[in-house]
Amino acid sequence: MEKDRLDQELVKSRSELWMFYEIGNLMRSTLKLDEILYIILTCVTSHEGLGFNRAMLFLVNERKKALEGKLGIGPDTSEEADKIWQKIEAEKTTLKDLINASRKFAKKKGQKLDRLVKSIKIPLRESAGILALSVLEGMTFEITTDDVSKKVKDPICALLKTEHFVTVPLKAKDKTIGVILVDNIFTKKPITKDDIRILTMFANQAGLAIENSHLYEKTVSLSHSDSLTNLINHGRFQYLLSKKLKEAEQAKRALSLVMIDIDNFKNFNDTLGHPAGDRVLINIAKILKRTCRSSDILARYGGEEFVVVLPDTNKESAWGMAERLRQAVERFAFPGQEIQPNRNLTISLGLASFPQDAKNKDALIAKADSALYHAKGAGKNRTHIYSTNTE
Ligand code: GH3
Ligand code: MG
Ligand code: MG
Repeated sequence: MEKDRLDQELVKSRSELWMFYEIGNLMRSTLKLDEILYIILTCVTSHEGLGFNRAMLFLVNERKKALEGKLGIGPDTSEEADKIWQKIEAEKTTLKDLINASRKFAKKKGQKLDRLVKSIKIPLRESAGILALSVLEGMTFEITTDDVSKKVKDPICALLKTEHFVTVPLKAKDKTIGVILVDNIFTKKPITKDDIRILTMFANQAGLAIENSHLYEKTVSLSHSDSLTNLINHGRFQYLLSKKLKEAEQAKRALSLVMIDIDNFKNFNDTLGHPAGDRVLINIAKILKRTCRSSDILARYGGEEFVVVLPDTNKESAWGMAERLRQAVERFAFPGQEIQPNRNLTISLGLASFPQDAKNKDALIAKADSALYHAKGAGKNRTHIYSTNTE
């Protein structure tokens, strides 16, 4: 008898070990956050993995001091659940197949549960319910039918129509970055202490994978931005301009490019110092940003030069936008601007458009630059439109 029990435990430990090994490999296969989240919840719900009926994942938004629903995986009804599980059984689907299938599925249409989870936002304070508490205390909670009917008045129970569920914090090093909620709403299979133990171990691994992906995404975003103004940097601008030009070519749409240079900036720097000049750059970035449309791509091209890519915009409309940018800077009262000529800090702009002025990226930049040069020559604080007659 004792030997049988030990044999059984050995088999179980082996399959757990195998599962963790497989899951570890899958989580290392990508650094993209949305893919990591899919892998995590597919592991939690698949039979080859932890086998829960439904799983939902929430992440902490530190800035907003809130917990935000990110992903939910699981069938919407028990009929759907039966169908899916029979199919998996019949086709002997592996965890890897499931993950690939769910990625495709996710792109096609969101499940009801996923849409519901994504709509959930919970303030991060103890009174906000069990999910927030799980994060704040860094603890696993098991909620049973009794708790639901008696003690716990948690809106999440009603929202998810669940009566027996477990919440496990997602931990990365010394902080809690989110929480996973699981239940067996369709099979009503009891959640055992052993299930919770494995889920907690898994959540620690998942938390680290999420944190790594966060760090990776932060690094990528930093490598695309300029540290003084927070705008897109030169390298990213070149990449995005190529991309937008390709799209414009395919869709046979116009695209315009505006090059911007501060007028007499050397004078400002020489008189008031480089730090004061830097503050002007920061202010100009803000003014340009709030004047541009959300589809426009504003970047710091170099020292005191900026560029704006205007997709889907012909020359005429782009001229209107360039003039709005110029006037916004002209109107702004920069501290110290009295020392500039005309006692005002201003910019000059050069405009060129695809397809009439240039067919490729480098030529378009050269034409906008040449137009800017003409704006300077014609007296500064103006927009010059590239034209073969003047250049
Ligand atoms: P123009 O009207 O012809 O443009 O005259 P300008 O004096 O602005 O000449 P230019 O465009 O050549 O300006 C270059 C000056 O911009 C040199 C430098 O003092 C300043 N500059 C460039 N990058 C930075 C920067 O990152 N910070 C600060 N404070 N100044 C910068
Ligand atoms: Mg310059
Ligand atoms: Mg200048």
